[in-house]
Amino acid sequence: MSTIDRPNSKKLFESLCKLIPGGVNSPARAFKGLGVTPLAVERAAGDMLFDPDGNSYIDYVCSWGAIILGHNHPGVLAAVKAQMEKGLSFVNSNNLELKHAELICKYMPSIEKVRMVSSGTEAAMTAIRLGRGFTGKNLLVKFDGNYHGHSDPLLIKAGSAVALMNEHASSKGVGNQETVSLPYNNSEALQAFFEGQGANVGVVIIEPVAGNMGCVPSDPEFLQLLRALTEHYGAVLIFDEVISGFRVGLHGATGYYGITPDLICLGKIIGGGLPIAAFGGKAEIMDQLAPLGEVFQAGTLSGSPIALAAGIAVLERLPGIYDELERKARIITDSVKDLVPTNQIGAMFTCFIPPEQFNAYFSFMLSEGVYMPQSPHETSSVTLAHTDTHLACTRDAILDFLSRQ
Ligand SMILES: *Cc1c(COP(=O)(O)O)cnc(C)c1O
Repeated sequence: MSTIDRPNSKKLFESLCKLIPGGVNSPARAFKGLGVTPLAVERAAGDMLFDPDGNSYIDYVCSWGAIILGHNHPGVLAAVKAQMEKGLSFVNSNNLELKHAELICKYMPSIEKVRMVSSGTEAAMTAIRLGRGFTGKNLLVKFDGNYHGHSDPLLIKAGSAVALMNEHASSKGVGNQETVSLPYNNSEALQAFFEGQGANVGVVIIEPVAGNMGCVPSDPEFLQLLRALTEHYGAVLIFDEVISGFRVGLHGATGYYGITPDLICLGKIIGGGLPIAAFGGKAEIMDQLAPLGEVFQAGTLSGSPIALAAGIAVLERLPGIYDELERKARIITDSVKDLVPTNQIGAMFTCFIPPEQFNAYFSFMLSEGVYMPQSPHETSSVTLAHTDTHLACTRDAILDFLSRQ
């Protein structure tokens, strides 16, 4: 349906389909059900992506939010190149681990100790294991439409690409899990559940600002109630800030709401586009991890020096950028919010296009040279590199689309 010609992208995708299931290494990339050839990207720079057919796109996916300074930021590239000269990987202590951990603990004061892993999936999976180990209780509570990666206990009513798989929004190959999924932002349901089963709950995980059902901030009273109930019943509360962490603000959702969880998961931005994620929080809980404690976790590439170098270069540049990021996001959202429901917080936003118009919207935007998330379940992101001109063009394209409906 897309009006721009992309023969090279199409050919590449057809070849990929012969060797890689669905042609993709992560399902959302397949643009399933959209009637559009998946985007092939040859290179990225600033706020732009370039395809093998000579087309360019203003990027609002931004590597699912991992890119916050813009693609190929010179300072980040320089840090990665300098580290490359010193070795790509070694599995021993190094100074980059210290610098990275210091920055994370400085920005997120409730993190007393932190451990690096390689993906958000691993961070959430391990934080849950740690919470269960700490409380000795297995029951896990999550919330509908939230996504925490693809470890087994979490593929229950998950947001993001999982939600598009089938009506139960789950996955085959996942056995019975001691997981309960409750409605998001519903204080009555939360209260009622805890009154019945609170004593059995070991861990609660939530996206305090959801980014995997579009951008949906949690209601402050709901989040406060959740903190009070988990404290009362002795459950570990995990904020999954893999997206929101350094996108909502320098102190994440924790700073935004003034509510402190027991553990926080981070990812995406903290590796600046390279594979790194982390979880951290109260020392008392974190010290249950091996080698100090009996909760096991390990990783050959955990704390990869190249990824840490990129992450440090990004983290060092975060203070002071959030007013500007917010101003940029609002160039789009301030106009669109009068026409369709629109949420924006920090550098993430979603214009909730009606579902029956979504496919046409996505194709239209792509043909206008704008790459928006391919599903209404994913938040849009802006970076420091998004120019006011590109943001205004994007806004005008959205307004143009909506005016034709
Ligand atoms: C992306 C994401 C994850 C998973 O991270 P991966 O690096 O893709 O495994 C977990 N939680 C949230 C909130 C995310 O947005």
